[in-house]
Amino acid sequence: MQPLPLDQKTHLLDAVDAAFDRQLEFTEALVRFPSIRGQEGTCQDFLADAYSARGLGVDRWQIDPSTLCHHPGYAPVTVPYDQAINVVATHRPRAQTGRSLILNGHVDVVPTGPIGLWENPPFEPYRDGDWLYGRGAGDMKAGLGANLFAFDALRQIGMQPAAPLYLQSVTEEECTGNGALAALLRGYRADAAIIPEPVGESLVRTNVGVIWFQVSVTGHPVHVASASSGANAIDAAAFLIQALKTFERDRNAKKGEFPAFADIDKPINVNVGKIAGGDWASSVPAWCTFDVRTGLYPGEDAHAEARAIEQFLLKASGQHPFLSNNPPKVTFNGFMAEGYELAPGSDAEALLATLHQSVIAEPLSSITSLAYLDARVFALYADTPCLVYGPHSDNIHGFNERVSIESIRRITKTLALFIATWCGLEPIQPR
Ligand SMILES: [Zn+2]
Repeated sequence: MQPLPLDQKTHLLDAVDAAFDRQLEFTEALVRFPSIRGQEGTCQDFLADAYSARGLGVDRWQIDPSTLCHHPGYAPVTVPYDQAINVVATHRPRAQTGRSLILNGHVDVVPTGPIGLWENPPFEPYRDGDWLYGRGAGDMKAGLGANLFAFDALRQIGMQPAAPLYLQSVTEEECTGNGALAALLRGYRADAAIIPEPVGESLVRTNVGVIWFQVSVTGHPVHVASASSGANAIDAAAFLIQALKTFERDRNAKKGEFPAFADIDKPINVNVGKIAGGDWASSVPAWCTFDVRTGLYPGEDAHAEARAIEQFLLKASGQHPFLSNNPPKVTFNGFMAEGYELAPGSDAEALLATLHQSVIAEPLSSITSLAYLDARVFALYADTPCLVYGPHSDNIHGFNERVSIESIRRITKTLALFIATWCGLEPIQPR
């Protein structure tokens, strides 16, 4: 791995600047696609067209759970997958002299929540000062744009990577992680991977795992006039939600066993994110369901933790007069993902640290992430160093999500230099 000659480096950074307005317009175009779960297809088509226009080979496919379900990293799904589309674009060199690289990003975004709480419509991007606003602007359409425009910068100076380069736009990152897993199982591998998630120009060193589950309580409906003869499913669900506070407290009490998490106030967040139940104000409710997300420390077995969750809820139900004889149903309906640690000392990390320093003039810092990341697929199942490194953002998963425009520029420059150095360069046209 040779450092780039200084003039080539300068040309490459200039090329990022020269195309940066177009990069922002491209990012805004991505934000305009409301690619929430079940609606990712059109945004994937747009990306596939953008990759094709650059002469890249494009592989677009629908994720088939039956091809993944025996893998330990698979997450169970309870929704249709007809829009669960992955796209991978491949660049092949004329002659490989460098190392191969995957630039990954996810196209799916989380729901907006009540639109009225946004200052502007969430899928109508706009800029204000250094900020680009919109649902998915930071998480992570800026990263998908950065991956592509970093590659473009090489071509702008008449060069291309001298090793296979894969641009991956996967889905299902916000709910299962099955998209990145499907890309791996389809055969896409490389010597390193980068995911420009919005992590504040830092490198993710370690990351929690995540489990999703849904708890369904069935009550005994009666007229509210004789409520004491029935069983209120919403009250029973509230009892279990309260009990989960104990579960969360116990889980966080273990943090001392995990040095990267020991100094974090509350590393395991047990979040009741959704609830529904009942049919009528004057009927004792017959049903209630609520959806929960919890975290895992790296090294913990997801399936073992899932059993522990079931046992906890069963035990808690034993303390409740109705639930003790009518225990809730627990369904695992999403993430079944383990945490990971990025093994220190890789060539990829060393190169990123050097290039980050040269672009941003600060040492590269490492962080612990408390949110799911697709990097676990590379770390746990492909033995591939995966660098999660991307721009500054605010309010992801909240209202008025935004990403720093100058941070996107800096990340794109670091990525362009990384591709050029890691993969090596060859002229587009043979000399
Ligand atoms: Zn993300």
